[in-house]
Amino acid sequence: MEIYTVGGAVRDELLGLPVKDRDYVVVGATPEVMLAQGFRPVGKDFPVFLHPRTHEEYALARTERKTAPGYKGFAFHAAADVTLEQDLARRDLTVNAIARATDGSLIDPYGGLRDLQDKLFRHVSPSFAEDPVRILRVARFAARFPAFKVFPATNVLMQEMVAAGEVDALVPERVWQELARGLMEQQPSRMFEVLRACGALARILPELDTLWHATQNASHADCINAGQHTMQIVDRTAQQACDLSIRFAALMRGLGRHGPQLVSGTKQVEAVCARIKVPNDSRDLALMLMREQEQVAQALNLPATGIVALLMRCDAFRKSQRFLDMLRAAACLNDAPFPPAGYLEQALQVARQVDSGVVAAALQDRPQQIAQAVQAARINAVDAWLLNSANGGAA
Ligand code: ATP
Ligand code: MG
Repeated sequence: MEIYTVGGAVRDELLGLPVKDRDYVVVGATPEVMLAQGFRPVGKDFPVFLHPRTHEEYALARTERKTAPGYKGFAFHAAADVTLEQDLARRDLTVNAIARATDGSLIDPYGGLRDLQDKLFRHVSPSFAEDPVRILRVARFAARFPAFKVFPATNVLMQEMVAAGEVDALVPERVWQELARGLMEQQPSRMFEVLRACGALARILPELDTLWHATQNASHADCINAGQHTMQIVDRTAQQACDLSIRFAALMRGLGRHGPQLVSGTKQVEAVCARIKVPNDSRDLALMLMREQEQVAQALNLPATGIVALLMRCDAFRKSQRFLDMLRAAACLNDAPFPPAGYLEQALQVARQVDSGVVAAALQDRPQQIAQAVQAARINAVDAWLLNSANGGAA
C-alpha cells in the first residue's frame, strides 16, 4: 500500500503556512489490512482509520456517488483498486486536491499548484454540485485566504446549486459550524461576499442579506449600505482578535434597524439563532448588544441611576466578562476610539466595590428591602465617582 498526505496540510505547506492537522490517503489497502496493522476505525460510514500511535487520520482512497438530496445522501466505494487520482477527483477545490508522496514529490492532477499561484478557488469536477457544504467551505476559505478569488465557473456552479435548492438542505449544525469557523478567520467579510455572490446568503441568512439593500443613515461619511457597514464592523472584530461571540454579536447588530427598529431586530436575531442553532453565549451577547448599543454609546451622558440600571439589565455584576465583551463589540462598531467602553468598565468596577453582603447583613429583619438597598448603594458609589471625575479627581 502507498500513503499520501492530502488536503489542507499540503495546501498550507505550499502556501508557507503552519500545518495544524494532517490527513492521509491510503491507496491499495483494504479495511482488513488496516485493522491488521493496528489502525482503529473511525465511525461506521467512512473508510477512515486512526493511526495507532499518532492518531492522525488515514482514509482509504475512495470514490463517491450522490444517492439522495442533502449531504448524507452519498454512497462510497473504497477498495484496493481505487486510485489516488480518483480519490482526488471527489475533493472540493483544486487547491485541496494536491497529494504529497512519502518521497516528497507532489501529485497534482487537477492543476492545484497553478491555482495556488493564481490564488483561485476552482472546483475539481462538476460533482462539486453534489454537496452544498462545499459552498460554505469555499466561503470560509475566502475568509482565511482573502487574496483568493472564486473562479467564475465555480461561482456559476454555486449559483446553480443555490437555485436548485441544495443550500436549503444543509443541516443547521453544519451551517453554524462553517459560519463560526469563517467568522474566526482573518477577514470574515470575504465569506459573506462569496455567499452573496452565489445567492447563498439570501437562503442561509436572509435577515443579513437584506442589509445590502438598506441605506446607511445619512450621517455616515462614505456612501455605503448597511451590509457593507456591517462587514467593516465584523472585519474590525477580526483585526482586534475578538472571540467568536463578539464577532457574531457585531454581525447581528445591524439587523432590523431599517424597519420598525429594535423589536424587529431582536426578533430577527432570535430567529437566526433558533434556525441555525447558535450557542447561547453568542446569542445572548448579540441580543444584549442589539438592545443596549444606543445606551452604551450615550454612557457619558447618563446619570448614576442610568449607569447602574444598564449594569443591572446586563447582569454585569454576576456576568462581568459578558458585559466587557459587549463593550468590546460596541467599540468595534466605531472606526474611532470609543470612550464609553473604558468609562463603563470603570463604572462597573466602582459599583462592584459595594459589598452586598454587608448591606444584606444590616437588613436581616427586612430581607425584601435588600435588593433595593444594594442598588441604592451602587448608585451612590457611581454618583460619588462621577462627581469626583467631574472635579478632575482620580476615580
Ligand atoms: P482546514 O485547514 O480547515 O482543515 P482542509 O482543506 O484540510 O482545511 P478538512 O475539512 O480538514 O479541510 O478536509 C480535508 C480535505 O478533505 C480537504 O482539503 C478536501 O480535499 C477534502 N474535503 C473535506 N470536506 C470536503 C467536502 N465537503 N467535499 C469535498 N472534499 C472535501
Ligand atoms: Mg484539514
